[in-house]
Amino acid sequence: MAGLDDRHPDDIVVDEKQLHALTVDLFRHAGSEEREAKLIADHLVMANLSGHDSHGVGMIPRYVINIKAGLTPLNRHAQVVLDAGGLLVVDGNAGIGQVAAFEAMQIAIERTKMHGVCAMALRNCSHIGRIGHWGEMAATAGLISTHYVNVIGHKPYVAPFGGADARFSTNPYCCAIPRGDQPPFILDFATSRVAQGKVRVAHNRKKPLFEGALIDRHGNPTTDPGVMFQDPMGAILTFGEHKGYGMALACELLAGAFGTGTMHPATMERGATINNMFTFLVDPGKIGDRAAVLAEIERALGWVIASPPAAGVDKVMVPGDPERKMRAHRRAQGVPIDPTTWGEMLEAGAKVGMNRVDLEKYRG
Ligand code: NAD
Repeated sequence: MAGLDDRHPDDIVVDEKQLHALTVDLFRHAGSEEREAKLIADHLVMANLSGHDSHGVGMIPRYVINIKAGLTPLNRHAQVVLDAGGLLVVDGNAGIGQVAAFEAMQIAIERTKMHGVCAMALRNCSHIGRIGHWGEMAATAGLISTHYVNVIGHKPYVAPFGGADARFSTNPYCCAIPRGDQPPFILDFATSRVAQGKVRVAHNRKKPLFEGALIDRHGNPTTDPGVMFQDPMGAILTFGEHKGYGMALACELLAGAFGTGTMHPATMERGATINNMFTFLVDPGKIGDRAAVLAEIERALGWVIASPPAAGVDKVMVPGDPERKMRAHRRAQGVPIDPTTWGEMLEAGAKVGMNRVDLEKYRG
């Protein structure tokens, strides 16, 4: 994620509410109903506020391309295709991922409150963005959740441990745990060493990437991001060597096998990203004494974060804290957007019939 102080002097800084209003306006012009436009804006702006710019409003140009190409149909809804109480299969109908995941999570939360547990396979969604958003939704409802996500519809970027070419994508994992009166534990990351978007930024800026993130087309380690823009292409490595690879594969198998497929060559043809998400939810109050469980979680976290900070570190944090810190900062200071992304957003607005002058007004 972005650091608190990594704003570039050329960046355009937009107020959170203006950015939200711009996003709603743009998707309304694209043909989204009011609620859909709002759900997209809620999600993308929250990703920027959280410091995950790779999953924020910078996705708008890609979404508009897919809408215009007919690959992402608008105003579709999550559809329950298997309903067995605590077991759900929900189809996103290839529509806007932020709508499908929101509606599917609403159903899964209701089922977990009823049965204490729910396993849901959500399949066939356009990009569902920052997975922590869905973990936060469960945690806000007082529930524990784990999310295994795979990505299909385009060529693979990530190599298996010990392999010399890419065989799957950046497959994110999320675990969310509610706390008593404290904000929740939200662990949410891509299983690749680095996001594909960050490789693109380094390539555009002609900067090498740190060691241990990439291999070239022959499987040799490299710091040259250009290997991801050649044919044949290099690959991104998974985090944590064989352990991260195993986790990436767990995401691939669980999300893909119960979803619309794994990153097999047969699923690469579509042209637009499709996410599948396999989610387990548990009500901590139904599997144990809620108060006792939450008290033990607090005791453990208190003990862990009391570790004396290492040199250069302010404080040991709980996963989810960096995003909350960034939200407070950006809510006060505005959301920085690099000029290239801003230009692409204006172009996307023009493609859906918006006036450039009106769009520029959102800069405030
Ligand atoms: P990242 O490397 O920034 O890791 C984020 C996680 O680490 C968060 O849980 C954060 O709270 C925690 N964390 C970071 N610093 C910490 C610290 N000092 N102490 C304690 N915890 C700390 O994330 P990433 O791998 O770059 O992923 C970014 C986003 O991209 C995620 O939201 C992910 O869901 C999303 N993503 C989505 C897709 C998709 O297809 N929809 C694919 C890949 C990634």
